Amino acid sequence: MSVRTLHLLGSPALRERAAEVGVVEPRVAVLVQDLFDTMRAAEGIGLAANQVGVLQRVAVVDTGDGEPLVLIDPIIVERYGEERGEEGCLSIPDIYGEVDRATRVVVETTDLDGNRAQVAAVDLKARATQHEMDHLDGILFLDRLSPLKRRLLLRKWQRSRKGATGFLKQLPPAAIRD
Ligand code: ZN
Repeated sequence: MSVRTLHLLGSPALRERAAEVGVVEPRVAVLVQDLFDTMRAAEGIGLAANQVGVLQRVAVVDTGDGEPLVLIDPIIVERYGEERGEEGCLSIPDIYGEVDRATRVVVETTDLDGNRAQVAAVDLKARATQHEMDHLDGILFLDRLSPLKRRLLLRKWQRSRKGATGFLKQLPPAAIRD
């Protein structure tokens, strides 16, 4: 397993559109595993490749509800409903805001065998999926808040970062569970 370095707000990688993967080469499977390892070490429920500085359309979601999702070149093909709910982001620690998201999505994605398949996600899993897919387009949950709320949270973020330099965060390796 390999826990990668997290990119925090301020990293240009979070603001870039990630590139299509296309063919699933072995290094993509390694990236997927590293995303899971890094997400778990950070105690998150989702992680996109941009957040470890890799500009490829790959993300993972694991809300503890059913199978974890592997998203490679994902596209939302159906969305239903709308719900406002609190979100945070491993790249913006300790900052939370209320974001409107579809309550259910159907996503077309490539699996690790290289096949296109459709997966459905509801509620928290749907929210996390939409959040991670936003990352692949360089969009952060802050962008989906009102300008006023965004300014407030950015000020809070800047205060919390006083004295901190750079935008990389090393995580301790996840505890081995058996
Ligand atoms: Zn995030």
